[in-house]
Amino acid sequence: MTTLKVLQADITTLAVDAVVNAANSSLLGGGGVDGAIHRAAGAGLIEECRGLGGCKTGDARITRGYNLPARFIIHTVGPIWIDGSGGEQELLASCYRRSLEIAAEHGLNSIAFPAISTGIYGFPIRLAAQTAIDTVTGFLRSSVSLREVIFCCFSSGDFMIYDELLSDARHEMPSRRGSV
Ligand code: ADP
Repeated sequence: MTTLKVLQADITTLAVDAVVNAANSSLLGGGGVDGAIHRAAGAGLIEECRGLGGCKTGDARITRGYNLPARFIIHTVGPIWIDGSGGEQELLASCYRRSLEIAAEHGLNSIAFPAISTGIYGFPIRLAAQTAIDTVTGFLRSSVSLREVIFCCFSSGDFMIYDELLSDARHEMPSRRGSV
């Protein structure tokens, strides 16, 4: 059974098996959560990322966590929101799915996601949060290795949206309150 949680926190402070980074396709750092993760992880991270040769939108790569409390970082490249007609939602779902697949392949128990694509990349927060929750709950129906999935929100507004959507999702599964 996996616990789904929403937290308002700086993702670089979380002691989980893996934090997910909303990276860009170069994997060489950027602004927002990407910049915060690179600053907190230290110089070793950029060295390892240079060797990965980038990553396509919707896909993910794993590195060590370096100076973070998290053991690993899963870097995923979210879509840039244009108007929703270019497959943005499916690409965002793919980011969550690929990150979870990689976590499961490595036998990880706990993972924390930021709200991928909802900052600089402009994805509407409510649609992004619903996509994240639906994709994670769908994945967990067929995977048993993960024990805890955290949605880590930076702002209180994002936290409230995730909290509301997550409790709606739990009401749809009344016998499994708080868990999927
Ligand atoms: P993207 O380019 O994918 O939109 P951003 O980093 O600009 O990525 O934003 C993604 C989300 O990460 C936003 O909700 C932003 O508020 C959030 N964020 C920024 N810094 C942090 C942090 N240190 N911990 C958790 N979330 C963060």
